[in-house]
Formats: sequence, C-alpha cells, structure tokens
Amino acid sequence: MTTPVRVRFAPSPTGKLHIGGARTAIYNWAFARANGGTFILRIDDTDPTRSTDENTQVILRAMRWLGLDWDEGPEVGGDAGPYAQTERLDLYREAAQRLWDEGRAYPCFCTPEMLEADREAARARKDPFQGYQRRCRNLSREEARSRIDAGEPYVLRIKVPDDRGDVVIHDAVHGEVTFDAKELDDFVIFRSDGTPTYNFATVVDDALMGITQVIRGDDHLSNTPRQVMVYEALGAPVPTFAHISMILGADGKKLSKRHGATSVEEYRDAGYLPDAFVNYLALLGWSLDGETTVIPREVLAREFSLERISKNPATFDPKKLDWMNAEYINRMDDATFADEIMLPELIEAGLVDVGDEFDETWVDALARIVRPRTKMPADAARVAAPVFATAETLVWDEASVRKGLEREGMGAVLDAAAAALSALDDASWTAERIDAALEPLPEELDMKKRLVFQAVRVAVCGNLVSPPLGETMALIGRGDSLARIERARGLAL
Ligand code: GLU
Repeated sequence: MTTPVRVRFAPSPTGKLHIGGARTAIYNWAFARANGGTFILRIDDTDPTRSTDENTQVILRAMRWLGLDWDEGPEVGGDAGPYAQTERLDLYREAAQRLWDEGRAYPCFCTPEMLEADREAARARKDPFQGYQRRCRNLSREEARSRIDAGEPYVLRIKVPDDRGDVVIHDAVHGEVTFDAKELDDFVIFRSDGTPTYNFATVVDDALMGITQVIRGDDHLSNTPRQVMVYEALGAPVPTFAHISMILGADGKKLSKRHGATSVEEYRDAGYLPDAFVNYLALLGWSLDGETTVIPREVLAREFSLERISKNPATFDPKKLDWMNAEYINRMDDATFADEIMLPELIEAGLVDVGDEFDETWVDALARIVRPRTKMPADAARVAAPVFATAETLVWDEASVRKGLEREGMGAVLDAAAAALSALDDASWTAERIDAALEPLPEELDMKKRLVFQAVRVAVCGNLVSPPLGETMALIGRGDSLARIERARGLAL
C-alpha cells in the first residue's frame, strides 16, 4: 500500500502572496488533488519581526481568490494542528529536548566573538571548512548543566554524525543532488532566545504533519541537506523533494517589483480571472504535454505531476497572461459572461443601476457582441457604452468623426442609410434585416464599402471600433438609431 499523499504550502506572512508563492501553492494543491491527497496550509510565522496577522489574512484571502482550497490549516482546522508555527513552540521544544536527551543535539555556549575568531583562524590557515569548529560538542552533561544553571546563554546544535558521509537528495525535479557532509556543520536548531530555527521548525512540522512530498522554491535546495539531518536525528522518514525553479522577468533577472505587479492582490484588483491566472501560473515551469496552453482547473487537478515540472527557470510574460485572461473570457457562455463580468462592470461604470431589469434575450445579445471584444473585464463597459447612450447623450469621438464623417460624400451616405433603415418597421428591426438594408448602399452610391460602413458606424456608435453594426443597432433600437444618424448628419460633409 502506498502512503497517502500529504503536501503543504507554508508561506511566511512577511508580505503579500507573490506570484512565485502562488505558483508553489498551485503545484501543491494540484499535486494533492491529482493524487487524492491532502493539501495543508501552514503559516510559517516564526520570524516575529516580519510576520503580521494582517499579512496572514491577505494570504488567506489570496488563496481563496485563487480557488486553492486547503484540507487542513487555518480556518478549517485538522488533526495535525495547530497550523501556525508560533502556536507550535511546545512541539519544537519537545522535539529538541528529545534530541538533546538522546545525544543527537547538544548545547553550545560559544559567544559570537569566539565563533568569529574561529572562523578567522580557519581562514588564516586556509581551511576549506570555515563553519562551527564543534568546540562544545564534547562537553560533559554535567558541565553543560552547571553552565546553564549559572545562567550562561546557549544555543542548541544538532550533532551531525561523524560517519554520515555525503548527503544525497532525491529531488523529483533536479534528480540526485549530492552535498558534501563536511560542509554541514553542527548547525543551530534552537536559538539562545528559545526560538527554533527555520530548518528545525520546518522539519519538525513536516514530520509531525506526515508530509510526503515537499514542493517548494529551489531557493530552499541548499537548506535541504540540513533538513535531512534533522529528519534523520528525529528518526522520521525523509519526504520526496521537488524544488521548483525561479520565476524570471523578461530581462532574465529574478522576478521582482521592478518588473511590475508581483502580488496576487494586484492581479485580482486589475480584474484578472482567477481561473486564467491559475492556469497561467501553472504553466510557469510545468506542462501538460508541451503544447496545450488552456488547461482548466479540473484538468490541472487531475493531470498534474511532478515529472512534468521543468528544471529551467520560467519567464513571467504579462502579455501571455493577458492573452490567457482574454481566452478565458472568450470561452465563457453569454449568460455567464453577462452575469459575472459584463453586468458588474456596467454597474461599476454607472451605465446600469443595480435594480435595473433587462430582457434576458437583450442582455444575451449584448453579451454576444461585447464578450469577444473584452480582454479585461473593464473593457466590457467601454465596448457596451454606446449601446447605453442616446442620440442626446452619445459622445462622438473627434478622431473618429474626422476619419469617418468629415469626408466628401459622407452626408449622402448617412442620408441613404437613413432612408434604407427607415423602411424597416419596429418589428423588422433585427440585426439581419438591418445588415441587409445597409448591404446594397456601397454599390448604389458607388463608394467603397469600408467608407460607407465606417460613416454609419461613427454616426451610430460615436467611434470606429464598436461591435458589428447590425447587432449593435438592433440593441439600440430603431428610434434612437435613426435619431443618432440624424444628429450625426450635422457632423458629416
Ligand atoms: N516559510 C518558508 C518560505 O516561505 C517555507 C519554506 C518551505 O516550504 O520549506 O519560504
């Protein structure tokens, strides 16, 4: 029987949730889901100077927005809790005490000055090992006890076994990575102020929480051999590691504020769809088959595997994210688009009031022409605005008027269009009939098709970039469409 998968995302609440952290969270979540496992959220708040409750809240909110539901962690609880490191200090103390009792850890009284002097001496004699010289490793228990009783400050160090040899890590992304055990000095697991170090707390937690795969950024790869020492000292099974590559900006440098928005919140506020955002981030270092780009959440949650994580750093490309966002919007059905994007944006833009009632077919018809022109949600209001104007309130864009109407013969075009359209009664005022009525005009007037339709478009919509004419005019209605042409007549030559 294989062990059930248990993975965790363990952000430190020292800031907002960033793109890199979000991707780590997505991979852990997807891996758990794809393997019928458990996804744990743990708050690594042991750095009291930089961790805040507010940041924790921001991270939880970002996780919820991303749709990454966790099975154990803050707000949902679980059997392996508590899920914040500051609430687990007793567990770290217990674990450290046990290692100490078993002779796998020992107190060290060396002052920072002594450590510095040792380092200096090692440097002077060109010793390749410049770490801790193990001065306190062989102190007798009695001596240690009496110095502690006398109030001397001390740290707790792990005793790396003399015969440990190389530490080989089996990393699902990087393969076998070997670290020279000589480089692993007897590192500190508890500080003199009674707080555990990251390498210790993390391993105690991962061991107690039964974590089976540690999926995290490769900035932690160098910590891993030390963490393996802690697992071994604790007698706990070492999980599989998967260290994922960095995310770079377009200039090849590590992604940072310089490259623009880096926090999940900023993308939420800019109007990105969480599904599109998750899809895009998932592809930064993982692929389904090397070519599929639109991978819905359900597919990710079914197909994600560590084998398809790339070793190479990924480049964050805001343009591709925009493309993905537009793609998700474009793939929505009209009703969903109308409810989730268009109507909220129209309300936000003041074009529609919350209580306004619309005919459902009318809204769907509007959604059908607005959706393909919406890359970001806010575009919806801009595209739909002409429909909500009236002949009195429509604002004609100056450049469009210059290009579309202030041309010899455009007055005649509008006259002909008005005549052709007036022939339709209210009942025949449909997109098809409108298009059919306008269709013969270029030939009749012996004018370029582009110029004719451009003129009508500017007259009715006020600009040159609006959706298809027939559909738009059908939505505007007969009376107002004709009134607009009439008013625009005054602008045309
Ligand atoms: N709190 C650590 C971080 O945010 C977690 C590291 C880990 O996953 O072990 O980098």
